Amino acid sequence: MEHATMGPRRAGFWGRLSLWKKILIGMALGMVAGTVLGPDAELLKPIGTLFVNAIKMLIVPLVFCSLVVGVTSMQDTRKLGRIGLKSLVLYLGTTAVAISIGLGMGTLFSPGEGVNMAAADSAVAAQEAPTLVATLLNMIPTNPVSALAEGNILQIIVFALGLGIALNLCGEKAKPAVQVFDSLAEGMYKLTELVMKLAPYGVFGLMAWVAGTYGLDILLPLIQVVAVVYLGCVIHVVVFYSGLISGLGRLNPLRYLKGLINPAAVAYTTSSSAGTLPASIKAAREEMGVSEGVSSFVLPLGATINMDGTALYQGVCALFIAQAFGVDLAFSDYLLIIATSTLASIGTAGVPGAGLIMLSLVMTTVGLPMEGLAIIAGIDRVLDMARTTVNVCGDLMVATLVARSENELDESVYQRARAHAAVQPSAA
Ligand code: ASP
Repeated sequence: MEHATMGPRRAGFWGRLSLWKKILIGMALGMVAGTVLGPDAELLKPIGTLFVNAIKMLIVPLVFCSLVVGVTSMQDTRKLGRIGLKSLVLYLGTTAVAISIGLGMGTLFSPGEGVNMAAADSAVAAQEAPTLVATLLNMIPTNPVSALAEGNILQIIVFALGLGIALNLCGEKAKPAVQVFDSLAEGMYKLTELVMKLAPYGVFGLMAWVAGTYGLDILLPLIQVVAVVYLGCVIHVVVFYSGLISGLGRLNPLRYLKGLINPAAVAYTTSSSAGTLPASIKAAREEMGVSEGVSSFVLPLGATINMDGTALYQGVCALFIAQAFGVDLAFSDYLLIIATSTLASIGTAGVPGAGLIMLSLVMTTVGLPMEGLAIIAGIDRVLDMARTTVNVCGDLMVATLVARSENELDESVYQRARAHAAVQPSAA
């Protein structure tokens, strides 16, 4: 009987709030609860563990399916093989630079120094670092099924890339398999969205536990993490991307930066590169003069596989967690973080919060404690906004450079806008 009247009124104050606001509220309430309860806040930790476990549940199928789809989505674009290769090299190369900047910033500013969370968690022991050769050899799974079962991400990535390429080579015959992966990937994106709905509660439980166990002193380093990630993002776009635009593309970088404004605003507020795609395609064509063919191939590819901001964030956060928990990272760990983040960025979906899941993957690879994820989860949205913006700026940078090198860039559009941009300040 009540059904008819309940529907429209159901969404109360909480229901109408967007997810990131709920997460911030969960975080704030968690801190209050933890401060009030003190060590008893441990009782609330299982709520957080539930969330962390749900995230872990997603990793293997999400990475596997979306990576296969990432590779097979290039099948329809055989004509654009060269463009695809150039984009791929630029996407992966710039991602490796991004993670290096993140690691550099994390080392320079040491946001986790002095946090000292190791003592409370005996499970957190410094990991025996595998040698680089062993790591490289180990990347090839002798049994992909056990790689999947054990959650060996590097092996899963290698197998997924191989399978994707093989499916492409099969052509028509592999269509049904490609469709299966396509729809499984969609399902995994949806499941990710559902799991993220648990985030406010999980974050509440985790923050309560963190604040109750370690006190509010943990807050200051978190502010530092945000500042370091934001600074790294600005450097990556303004210095590195602009440098590539002028160095490789021989184009005025100011024009590129101006063209970014709209898509960057959409990316910052939605935290989704996939959701920003319409805005970035429009900007590429109308502001930067990138041809339709290049923009409609390079940008969707970038929204799926290019995650420089995410990689940079992973570098800073991995170091923060290692510092906070007193885990010593060897040089080979740094290389492993660079390799995993770069490859994992291919499998990161362009949706809010995907980077956090990938962070857990990077952490697992170098043996960092999952509790660290809890701390980052509380501030993840603020970080997501910045890293998504960088992800989108990177897509547009690559689209512009590839178009330029293929004679697919309408320079009159680029120049006209530059002239327009140059007139505006003097007129103001
Ligand atoms: N939200 C990011 C994006 O859509 C992915 C991430 O969470 O890092 O680009």
